[in-house]
Amino acid sequence: MNKNQQLFQLPELLPAPELLKLMQMLREAQRIVITAHHGPDGDAVGSTLAWAAYLRHLGKDATVALPSWHPDFLRWMPGNKDIIIYRDKPEEVKALLKSADLVCCLDFNDLSRLNAMAEVVEQCKAPRLLIDHHSGGKLEQFSLLVSHPEMSSTCELVLRLLYQLGAYDDMTRSTAACLYTGIMTDTGNFAYSSSDPVLYLCVSLLMRKHVDKESIYKKVYHNWSRGKFTLWNDVLSDCLSFHANGHASIFTLTRQMMKSHKFMRGDAEGLVNEPLKIRGMKVSIALREDTDEDVVRVSIRSTGGFHCREMAERFFNGGGHDDAAGGKLPFPIEEAVVTAAKAIEAYAEELKSIS
Ligand code: 5GP
Ligand code: MN
Repeated sequence: MNKNQQLFQLPELLPAPELLKLMQMLREAQRIVITAHHGPDGDAVGSTLAWAAYLRHLGKDATVALPSWHPDFLRWMPGNKDIIIYRDKPEEVKALLKSADLVCCLDFNDLSRLNAMAEVVEQCKAPRLLIDHHSGGKLEQFSLLVSHPEMSSTCELVLRLLYQLGAYDDMTRSTAACLYTGIMTDTGNFAYSSSDPVLYLCVSLLMRKHVDKESIYKKVYHNWSRGKFTLWNDVLSDCLSFHANGHASIFTLTRQMMKSHKFMRGDAEGLVNEPLKIRGMKVSIALREDTDEDVVRVSIRSTGGFHCREMAERFFNGGGHDDAAGGKLPFPIEEAVVTAAKAIEAYAEELKSIS
């Protein structure tokens, strides 16, 4: 094979010894629970459904059990009806975990991101397989690691894993659609975290399965309720403040605001990216009152080299990636605004120097 032909080959993901360990782990398991972080997004749902389809194809008894519901705009995904939600059916999930001989943890790397479901997973005696693309985390909590922070998404990782496991030929169009969805949502439709040429080989492999990417785009992004539309409008015009000479912004989303716009799960997803459209804006912080717990959820997004994860760890009890991170604050939203303003202040010089 010459050099140009090699460029069109998907490079192997795992070295042989790791692949063998993974295969042995799968061989020894029969009843498998697959889970992802609370508030699951397109990558979490897409990767768990695709991994479940593969395991079922191997003859395993595989179930996707997620800590909380995913947004409505992801409910069309093939396999959605078989997902069990811990918040709705805790006893069912507990029973599944009790008899499981493997737990696959996808798209997160710290059990605390399972929220209320963390405790039952911690108590479960089965080995834990991690398949994830976040950096940091608590990797000692897992028995086997397939951890690749350089990847766009867990869906890209799962696709490359399935390819290496020889499962591509049998992959269905439905599974390919799940994987495409996660890659699309985690890269903001190929706007960020998507410069590796190999990612486009992955997309090409999915397109060969006749994934209808236009239809997926519409189902995920052009599927707004009127309430969501007016909520975004009102938050951005009434609840946004500018800091650090216009290099940073904070907005708040209160329960009251959600109520008056008939808020549905997922309606605020992506809103934190909007201020980054302003010229010179380098970091956007969203503070959202949680609908269940008495905490304020923090989301941080950046462009142009500001490290969100460090800010999340230092000020917001959280973590994440360089360009997208989050956390939570255990006090009222007015105080959360003060903390966020202080966080920005601590980075004011750095924000000025980023070009
Ligand atoms: P989001 O703003 O979409 O909720 O989260 C963005 C990213 O920040 C997530 O993919 C995750 O990596 C990270 N993140 C969000 N919330 C938390 C948290 O409470 N703890 C940690 N460690 N990471 C978080
Ligand atoms: Mn992800």
